[in-house]
Amino acid sequence: MPIGAITCVYVICAIRMKFYTFDVIYLLPLPFSNNSLRFVLVYIYIYITSTEKLIQSANRSVRTADSDADLDSDDDQNTQAVAFPKWLADLTKMNDWPGDYPPFISGSVDLNGIPSEPIYTKDQPCRGKCAFDCNGCLGPSDVIVCSTMIQTFDDGPFTSTSRLLQYFFRQRQRVSFFLIGKNVRDLPNIFRRQRRLGHFIGSHTWSHPYLPSLTNEEIAAQLIWTTWVMNATAGYIPTYFRPPYGGMDDRVRAIAGRVGLRPVVWNLDTNDWRMVEEDRTAEQVLSDVQYWEDHNFTGIILEHDRADSTVDVAINIQRIIGRKSQVVATC
Ligand SMILES: [Zn+2]
Repeated sequence: MPIGAITCVYVICAIRMKFYTFDVIYLLPLPFSNNSLRFVLVYIYIYITSTEKLIQSANRSVRTADSDADLDSDDDQNTQAVAFPKWLADLTKMNDWPGDYPPFISGSVDLNGIPSEPIYTKDQPCRGKCAFDCNGCLGPSDVIVCSTMIQTFDDGPFTSTSRLLQYFFRQRQRVSFFLIGKNVRDLPNIFRRQRRLGHFIGSHTWSHPYLPSLTNEEIAAQLIWTTWVMNATAGYIPTYFRPPYGGMDDRVRAIAGRVGLRPVVWNLDTNDWRMVEEDRTAEQVLSDVQYWEDHNFTGIILEHDRADSTVDVAINIQRIIGRKSQVVATC
């Protein structure tokens, strides 16, 4: 039998017999006496067994995570709000999470030197000098572009988010979520799961108001309470935020900066919320996305995971644009 064949048989036998130390191989009699060949043999053995162990370990961790994801789906329906932590009680002198209008806690955000801008409601003519929703104006640190097309989801977490997380888990796909603070308060398990599965999480204010209509203190409270609830729920502090309705002028930008938040907007809007509130169809949304894909568009897609219909569309959008490795923070 040629030496090459003998060598192969030798290594395969060693692995099959589960010899976990290369000393065994080295000491076993070989049909030839060549030290450098013995060395190469030992190297091959170590390489193969290491690779086997890595594969076994990876399979084990995938199985564990998979079971976690399945088991957690029941837990996601648990709507028990997250407890109000002692550190926050000490800081705010409150005993529970706020309602839709969180109070400004004196000293929590430095509001000195914030630029003045006219205050106006969403229904009034836009008056912000550099307001994204008025004139598409962007600040120097606003995020709007990405080198690939990526999916972002606003307004959650919702109970419908669970199914989307299951899908993305199986696709090994990370996406970006901009979450409402009071929804994190009400569905803490889904938020923790979004974090655990490695998705990007940004802030989307406490109760989704049109920020240019609020005072400086009210804007600061909307942002800081959202950071606090994410911290209390999963030890996470967001560093990006998306203004509801894109309502953001230089005053909003400056206050967000004081809370440590970088603004993120979007350049590709699915208008999927119109499927729930108006008569836009899934086919129309998917047709838009197919057009973007066919014409090599790049950037940040705005979506919502608020309903089964928009989750179905989100899954189909992922099938059209394919698996992406980027999230907002890596754009
Ligand atoms: Zn929103």
